[in-house]
Order: sequence, then C-alpha cells, then structure tokens
Amino acid sequence: MKLEEFQAKALFRQYGLPVPEGLVATRVEEAVSAAERLGLPVVVKAQVKAGGRGKAGGVKLVRTVEECREAASGILGMTIKGYPVERVLVDPAQSIGSEFYVGITTDRRKRRPVLMTSASGGVDIEEVARSTPERIFFHTIDPRYGLRSFEARGMAFRLFDSKEQVLACARIMVDLWRCFDGCDASLAEINPLALLTDGSLVALDAKIVLDDNALYRHPDFEELRLPTDEERKEQEAKRMGLSYVRLDGSVGCMVNGAGLAMATMDLIKHLGGTPANFLDIGGSSSPEKVVGAMKLLMRDSNVRSVFVNVFGGITRCDDVARGLVEALGSMGDPPPMVVRLTGTNEREGVRILSETGISATSDMTEGARRAIGLAEAGASGGAS
Ligand code: GDP
Ligand code: MN
Repeated sequence: MKLEEFQAKALFRQYGLPVPEGLVATRVEEAVSAAERLGLPVVVKAQVKAGGRGKAGGVKLVRTVEECREAASGILGMTIKGYPVERVLVDPAQSIGSEFYVGITTDRRKRRPVLMTSASGGVDIEEVARSTPERIFFHTIDPRYGLRSFEARGMAFRLFDSKEQVLACARIMVDLWRCFDGCDASLAEINPLALLTDGSLVALDAKIVLDDNALYRHPDFEELRLPTDEERKEQEAKRMGLSYVRLDGSVGCMVNGAGLAMATMDLIKHLGGTPANFLDIGGSSSPEKVVGAMKLLMRDSNVRSVFVNVFGGITRCDDVARGLVEALGSMGDPPPMVVRLTGTNEREGVRILSETGISATSDMTEGARRAIGLAEAGASGGAS
C-alpha cells in the first residue's frame, strides 16, 4: 500500500525524523488559512500516490495569500499520472542549500534491506541510477542487527564533511531504518533530504510503501487507506454482492457467474469490440441487485451500451426478465442494451423482454454483436 506524502511524514515524525510541520487541505480556502496559520512563504504540494509532482507542476512555492489561492486552486484541479488531486499539503517553506537522497528498500537479489544514498538528491533517482550510477552509494543491512550507528556514520561521511552534519545524517538514516523496519515497509525514502542554509537537515519529501503481506500486523494502518475513485467503486460493488473490475472499453457487461463473465469479455474482444468491465452479479439476481449493477455501469462515462448475459440454471430466465423489466422501469434513462438469456424458460424470458421493447436473444454471439453495434452507433452518433 502506497502512502501519500503527508501520511508518510506523519510516520516519519513518529520515528523522530525531522519533517516540516505542515497542514493538509482539501479546499482552496482551507489551504489559504493553513498558509496564514503557518506563516508565508509556504509550499503547496499535491498529495497523490506518485512521484514527479514537482515536474508536473504539483509543487508550488508561494509568497502571498493571492499566490497561495491561485496555486491551491490550480493544483486541486490537477490529475497527476492518472491520480486526481483531492488534497494538498501546505508546508512552511525552507531555505534550501542543497538536496540529498536517502532511501531504504529491499534488495531482492541479496534478500536483504539496502540503504541507498546520493548527493544528487531532489531529482528523479532512477535517472541518476541510469546516467551516473557512481553517484549512488549502497549499504546492505543485516536484518538481524538492523542499521547500526557506525555503519550509518560510514555512509554519512560519503555525503558530508562536517562532523555535525555527519552525525545528524547518521541519526536520520538510523531513524529511517527504524521506521522502515517498524512499519514493515518495502520502501522508505527521503528525496530530497535538504541541507538548509542554517546547516540543519530536513526531510522535505517522504515516500513510504507498506508491504501488504504484513498489513495484518498493523491494524491501525487500515485508516491510512485512501481509496481512489476506482477502488471506491469496486468496494461499493463488493458490498452489493457484485464483483466488479473496471476496464477501458465501451461495452458494459453484466453477467451471472465469473466464468461466463470472462467468456463474455473474450467474445466481445473476439468480435472486435472492447469490454468496459468485468462484472459478475452472482446467482439469485434480484431486481435491486440488477439496478445496483446497472447504476454502477452507467457511472462509467466510457460505457456506450450494456450487454446483459445470463445463464438461467436454477435462476429461471423469465424471473430474470421480469427483474430486468422492473429494474429498467425504475431507472430514468436506461442505456442502449441487449439481453441474452439462455437456460431454463429462455423463450419465455426473451418474449417478456421483447414485448417491452428490449433487444433480447438466446444466442450469445448474436447478443454480443448487437451490443458492439449499439456501442459503435452511440460513439459515432455523438451520444453524451
Ligand atoms: P516530487 O517532485 O513529487 O518528488 O516532490 P518533492 O516534494 O520532492 O518536491 C520537489 C521539489 O520542490 C524539491 O526537490 C525541492 O526542490 C522543492 N521544494 C519542496 N519543498 C520545498 C521548500 O520548502 N522550499 C523550497 N524552496 N523548495 C521546496
Ligand atoms: Mn521528491
């Protein structure tokens, strides 16, 4: 589980690492009052689970209330690497002398944690690793002993000359190790670790990735989960007894049974269409469930048509058909759709649907073809 910067900084703080005392805001005016409380200048920073925010314009240094308002409203509307920005961190600005890199991750080949440092901090560390690998230093940590202070000092001497800074940096490395180890992280990273003009060291950025396999040992981390819109939809679906995974296509699929749902996606692809999702509505599909599933599909703006594919085993097709008619009747503006029913009482089911003007068939290929046609007509017809 990736954490956002403000969450990682809160954990850093718990382990004694030096971080600026910032405030989180979800609205522009909240960011402005945070800036006033902290005192200008401040840095307004997009909170997303991705790096490279600086380059994307998601980190702004502001000197006045007006600049702060402008920066916050710009950043709160941004999407960075596919993540819409819902929060900003407002940090008191620091007067930076130079920027360093300090990180701990797992070296899978050595099967050990590894401490990495560089005097070329602040920038994309992957780029440093590619172009000037000699500028990154590594120290493999023995997990039996952890990072010991003499080892940390040895690493710190590679970055600093002054005794005070070496000791301060070594302290930071040991605390970062304690954080990495204590949180069961797979990555704990400070980029940049800034040397301020007053000679002190501060973690200006914080990145933590928690190891999902160890989350059971940290029940309190559950509240750190900030689901994206996508993940919220999937969780909501789960609560309704549906299993839903969003894809990028235009044909929404509503299917009973996971195997049939996969076969349906395959068939749509095979016939030249693109499925918008995987959706298994399970057995015993009540009208409420069908309405819930239909609403879920319609919230995806890529969906141009819906293909309902139901195999009636114990569930009878005429019951499903009646459920669908009831469900659609309760919806204001149902999407163009095709229903394929097969199994027990399929003829009766198709008849009920056809009488209410819904395109229905008992043939799967035929149904998929029609749904793809509707999706294409919707797309080219410029339907909203
Ligand atoms: P990232 O681009 O997502 O890694 O975001 P960072 O938090 O690392 O910020 C990017 C850059 O913004 C840093 O390397 C700094 O140069 C700059 N920056 C961040 N905080 C401050 C600050 O308090 N003062 C100043 N002057 N610059 C800052
Ligand atoms: Mn950074």
